[in-house]
Amino acid sequence: MRILVVDDSRISRRVLCDQLAKLGHEVVGIAEGSEALARCREERFDVVLVDFKAGAMEGQEVCWHLRCGQAGTHHVYLMLMVPGSITGQFAEIIENGADELLRKPLDESWLQARLLAASRVVRMQRELERLATTDGLTGALNRRHFLERGTEELQRARRHGRDLSLIMLDIDHFKAINDTHGHAVGDEAIRTCVRTCRAMVRQSDLLGRLGGEEFAALLPETNRAGAVLVANRVRGAMAITGVVLPAGGPLHFTVSIGVGVLHPDDRSVETLLARADAALYRAKRGGRNRVEVEEPTATTTGPG
Ligand code: GH3
Ligand code: MG
Ligand code: MG
Repeated sequence: MRILVVDDSRISRRVLCDQLAKLGHEVVGIAEGSEALARCREERFDVVLVDFKAGAMEGQEVCWHLRCGQAGTHHVYLMLMVPGSITGQFAEIIENGADELLRKPLDESWLQARLLAASRVVRMQRELERLATTDGLTGALNRRHFLERGTEELQRARRHGRDLSLIMLDIDHFKAINDTHGHAVGDEAIRTCVRTCRAMVRQSDLLGRLGGEEFAALLPETNRAGAVLVANRVRGAMAITGVVLPAGGPLHFTVSIGVGVLHPDDRSVETLLARADAALYRAKRGGRNRVEVEEPTATTTGPG
């Protein structure tokens, strides 16, 4: 697991980090509670192991802040180390956010055992997160999560004045694929569509399944010209990929794509999506297997 150790004593932090690394975990050690909170907002940890004293903050406070979700949306398993002299207030400590109490001095085999229990909870939590945020057929983000993450990304782009584009795809004549070859082949076409798309975009781009055979990719740091390039690459790749039919032989299909580009007054990804959708509609009307871009306006960000 990825573990963040928060302890203002340099020596005990060092000893604990070494122990955890020896148990096969990836460990980051930090002295200050406030720094730990900032770190958790930036990156993802499975477990945070906090000492009773974490610099200017109490360990309990750190747990409380992390539990209240101030540190991001992901679930973290919180383990609080308490001095052996503490004999009560256990329920209160758990109520304040900690999942587990560890008494000091730490017993190595006890620590190992409790981490095993923690890993079980973390694994289950990750699986729940995956089920809640992705589409079962393709593994792409589901619509709700795509819109959530997309809006975060959009606001980040606006804050930093960066480019952002979106491409929206719809498989052409998909009903005919279902009707002629059956739903299993239709499903395979949908999977192939996502696989091909994923291979054509950056790993940091967000790929979502918006509905039946409709998908979108959000492209940070990408301007109008870049998005058109990506869209054409996706369109071209799709046309030559196809799926293998049960009776043998490939079945080729095409996609139509609409491109939307961030406007300074976009507040959520829905407005950007709506413009890409309008462009997609024109691509369909214009004969399919083609890319259309939203009309440029005076307020469009970025060059080109
Ligand atoms: P167009 O070129 O205009 O997009 O034509 P189309 O036939 O693709 O039109 P439309 O978007 O109306 O058709 C979508 C069809 O996709 C309707 C529905 O039966 C089918 N569909 C939706 N979800 C799934 C799915 O998960 N699996 C399969 N096999 N089919 C699906
Ligand atoms: Mg379609
Ligand atoms: Mg459709």
